[in-house]
Amino acid sequence: MRNLIEGKKRLAFAAVLLLCFSLFASLALAEETGPVQIKNVALNMEAIASRKWLPEYDQLTAAALNMRNNFSYAPYSHYHVGAALLGADDKIYTGCNVENAAYPVGICAEQTAFVKAVSEGCRKFKALVVAGSASDRKGSDFCAPCGMCRQAIREFCDPDFPIILVEADENGAVKSYKIYKLDELLVDSFGPNHLK
Ligand SMILES: [Zn+2]
Repeated sequence: MRNLIEGKKRLAFAAVLLLCFSLFASLALAEETGPVQIKNVALNMEAIASRKWLPEYDQLTAAALNMRNNFSYAPYSHYHVGAALLGADDKIYTGCNVENAAYPVGICAEQTAFVKAVSEGCRKFKALVVAGSASDRKGSDFCAPCGMCRQAIREFCDPDFPIILVEADENGAVKSYKIYKLDELLVDSFGPNHLK
């Protein structure tokens, strides 16, 4: 009988230990805020030129929608935008719009992503996915970068840089998409090459 009670105590102790460990592990994961590394990315520029959907765009879209749904700060426009930028280092840099009571101080999702990437040492990029929509619905409509963002993108990207706009349902499934090259959104652009 005594052995049985001791055995139950040990079992309870082990259960508490397991609970503490899983709690600690989940907190550690929750604090992971750095860029997400994805593997085996080798974007095929011919495929990009053909405007086909590439497998890598799935992960970028999920990251952009996550930013749109969970992090966008848009108490004034109520229009939530997320962006996911694939760096040449194969990391995904994410961004959301961050508005401000002094309206012009707000920053777009695309620029947030670029600022995060550049401030972490990445200056070359492979693709950008943008997803945005009004706050009264989940998912996204086609949300093209604004004029300022197009110029901000031009600073670090070549004219054939792919910009992908996604229309997604509330479960994050892509219903349709548009793939533009940067120079289609910003014709005859002014870039760093003009100042050399
Ligand atoms: Zn913008």
